[in-house]
Amino acid sequence: MDSYRVDIQSILEVLAETIAVSDDLVFDTFEVGTEVFKPTGPAHFDITLTNTGAAIIGMGKVRLPVLATCARCLAEFPTEIDAEVDGFYVMRGRDVDLPEEQQVEYIDSEYRVDLLPSIMAALVVEAPFAPLHDENCAGMCANCGADLNEGPCGCETSVDDLHPFAGLKDLLGDDAGHGD
Ligand SMILES: [Zn+2]
Ligand SMILES: [Zn+2]
Repeated sequence: MDSYRVDIQSILEVLAETIAVSDDLVFDTFEVGTEVFKPTGPAHFDITLTNTGAAIIGMGKVRLPVLATCARCLAEFPTEIDAEVDGFYVMRGRDVDLPEEQQVEYIDSEYRVDLLPSIMAALVVEAPFAPLHDENCAGMCANCGADLNEGPCGCETSVDDLHPFAGLKDLLGDDAGHGD
């Protein structure tokens, strides 16, 4: 899907007039940086477009059910990305007086606005960074890769062997016994 265009001609000349749009968008995958989320259903959105005079604004919500991958144990778990959509659309050439930080999109030559960029931007902002399947996830053993949520693995007793200076004690011991 490249765009989701809505005809706003009916409200373009009428102050405070609105158009409500609700629909489902199907994504095969949803990626944010290196994080990959697998959609388990469509992204449902409810957005109201309003003519505020200076612009057409689009306000609403979008919710995308996904499988996320736990950052600690790598288990996939179901979650939802809930986001507030905030779109701002102007006729080309009419954005000269707007504050620089205002994200602006243009009403196209057929008097349509594209809702997809603001929906995607909202989902990206709310997508969890380093998601955890549980706040107390015990993660994986760095040595054997066992899922420590299922109980301790056999490595825990030999954790000293993994310490980079584990061999130092033996070296010092040898030196101490090397007197003449
Ligand atoms: Zn986990
Ligand atoms: Zn282990």
